[in-house]
Amino acid sequence: MTYTYDPQNIFARILRGEIPNKTVLETAHSLAFYDISPQAPVHILLIPKGAYVNFDHFAAEASAEELVDFHRAAAQICASAGVAPGVGGAGYRTLSNAGSHGMQEVPHYHLHILAGRVLGPLVLKV
Ligand code: AMP
Repeated sequence: MTYTYDPQNIFARILRGEIPNKTVLETAHSLAFYDISPQAPVHILLIPKGAYVNFDHFAAEASAEELVDFHRAAAQICASAGVAPGVGGAGYRTLSNAGSHGMQEVPHYHLHILAGRVLGPLVLKV
């Protein structure tokens, strides 16, 4: 599988400190920050620090350490935001867009964490 990573994408620039972000959590291999255009009362983006284009790139090629770090960070965010059912929260949705049909805008893998209201059906019928 060939993945081409654009180092000028906006999240790469955030990781290099060229663009500010509202950080929620930073770990050894991951960064989480608030989405600039929130679609729900809680809308956090979690990204790996490594140069991965999308979910399948990250899942296929990230190291075990990166994979664990990323998913533990996601769990920590859901817990600390108070939305995880396991901490008494009302729930959340994680999603990741890839490619043109997924309507991915930023070509650096990111997990959307959405919560704070009933989020509706999984996808719009078009
Ligand atoms: P996607 O369509 O899945 O690629 O999502 C990209 C997300 O990045 C959108 O929800 C945007 O609102 C968000 N976004 C774009 N630029 C920034 C930025 N500078 N800081 C935070 N979020 C951003």
